[in-house]
Amino acid sequence: MKPEALLHPTPAGLFCPIGRFYVDPVRPVERALITHGHSDHARSGHAKVLATRQTLDVMRIRYGEDFCGEEQAAAWGEVIDLDGVKVSFHPAGHVIGSAQIAIEKDGLKIVVSGDYKRGIDPTCAPFEPLSCDVFITEATFGLPVFHHPDPKGEIGKLLTSLKQFPERSHLIGAYALGKAQRVIRLIRDCGYDQPIYIHGALAKLCDYYVGQGVELGDIRPATIEKSTPDLFKGAVVVGPPSAFQDRWARRFNEPLIAFASGWMMVRQRAKQGGVELPLVISDHCDWPELLDTISEIGPSEVWVTHGREEALVRWCELKGIPARPLHLVGYEDEGD
Ligand SMILES: [Zn+2]
Repeated sequence: MKPEALLHPTPAGLFCPIGRFYVDPVRPVERALITHGHSDHARSGHAKVLATRQTLDVMRIRYGEDFCGEEQAAAWGEVIDLDGVKVSFHPAGHVIGSAQIAIEKDGLKIVVSGDYKRGIDPTCAPFEPLSCDVFITEATFGLPVFHHPDPKGEIGKLLTSLKQFPERSHLIGAYALGKAQRVIRLIRDCGYDQPIYIHGALAKLCDYYVGQGVELGDIRPATIEKSTPDLFKGAVVVGPPSAFQDRWARRFNEPLIAFASGWMMVRQRAKQGGVELPLVISDHCDWPELLDTISEIGPSEVWVTHGREEALVRWCELKGIPARPLHLVGYEDEGD
């Protein structure tokens, strides 16, 4: 069988005609397999959803009880038969519950890695390399210029700034699912034990992470009341990037705006967003991690879903690995 007969791109997303399912479809479908809870991959309105327990929980938190018609939870490594196609979920190391999906039929194995990273992240299960015939990878940071530094070094910059500017509220922009909890956990692992204040939009997901055993320390709501104007002086406040454009952010005392994202490597992006303290912390692979992962897995073919596909395809070809870009649309890397 040709791999394209088992899985191929369609406008709705990657489709398996034999198993009659889509992976991370961008529009409502009959049967969806979801890699992780970021909104560009996990959408509401599918009739049936198969995902890890944590991804289903995250979808329920974000979209409400009726986020799909019928749900099925896949345990790590459990083999599930869908119309003669064997599928299984394996950790991707991207955010809580994030999975790669292995799809197998007649000895042909395709792995859809979804979004993934290789760096240490105590807030989710680490990426598990799977041998396969076709490895499908993203390429969000698929250019040689992208090298992500040690995230603890980035948190070190934040802690230094807190000492330098003890009067200023340090506001950290971080995406609500995954990045916010990882940043809080990193701050804790760097020895900071003061309360960390969070925007209301992060509360449910932070509670969920804590319930799943990810310790975040003393986190409190960042609610400003007139009686305590000094409460946030020198405090660390974490909120979704969107909140920093509205009045919420301006109520803090001399706010110092930080932003935790892989895109903070691009100085222009930081400048445009008015970010005073860019923190290069990414939940995606950087260029060396993409290459190391492909080398380690050793697939006979690589397909690249989204991001900067061309450079990675070219690199594979130079290594003698057939590769093609899939040009999937609708994946805007919410998580970075
Ligand atoms: Zn993602």
